[in-house]
Amino acid sequence: MDDLPITPKPLTDEERATYEWQTWIPDFGEESQEKLKGASVLISRIGGLGGTVAYQLAAAGVGRLVLAHAGNVKPSDLNRQLLMTHEQLGKPRIESAQRRLNDLNPRLEIVPVAENISKENVSRLVGEVDVVVDCAPLFEERFLMNSEAVAQSKPMVECAMYDLQAQLTTIVPGETPCLACLFPEEPPAWKREFPVLGAVSGTVGCLAATEAIKLIAGLGETLAGQLLTMDLRTMDFHKHRVARRADCEVCGS
Ligand SMILES: [Zn+2]
Repeated sequence: MDDLPITPKPLTDEERATYEWQTWIPDFGEESQEKLKGASVLISRIGGLGGTVAYQLAAAGVGRLVLAHAGNVKPSDLNRQLLMTHEQLGKPRIESAQRRLNDLNPRLEIVPVAENISKENVSRLVGEVDVVVDCAPLFEERFLMNSEAVAQSKPMVECAMYDLQAQLTTIVPGETPCLACLFPEEPPAWKREFPVLGAVSGTVGCLAATEAIKLIAGLGETLAGQLLTMDLRTMDFHKHRVARRADCEVCGS
């Protein structure tokens, strides 16, 4: 794919020191760090999966993070949602997340949206960013994000998990299959509450964050056109080539 139209932002000496170890990565360097600083990423839901994505992107210095997640912190969030803290129980998730991310990296702009992705907000939120990371548990939200990302030609990292199984792909509109190519209909088994271990959602979140950083920096090869499936019960990882469907209702011709 072509480089994303991101305007790099020059680093301060303090930022140069903070990100020093990652600028040693061959093919990355200060030029890519400036792109991360100039980039904006939308993360839908900041639970076990999206919270880890946000934490890693904040640590890496992605300049602007738009986070969408409604609701208050519950005790059952705390086995995996590492942006939520015990003393925030009963208070908005998005506040806890913003505080944790700013504690880690006060240089960033965090845009907290105390709503889940909906028909009303999806166009505006996708329009604000360079890259979308979809971590929503429900297909209704995933399909909305997918349609909007395709319509606005924004790349989207798509990740999902259940139990100890997970999958990850990167959707580049016009080049790769979209989510509706892979799932023409909502899989009936998916529900909002599901078995999950924080180490598993965190693993998938770290992989998704790596994909987002690669997209922004033009680093390495993304999972564009490939679906990575993982079973952490057996540690089996497989990459599958996936194809566009000509009759796809979202991206088909
Ligand atoms: Zn499609």
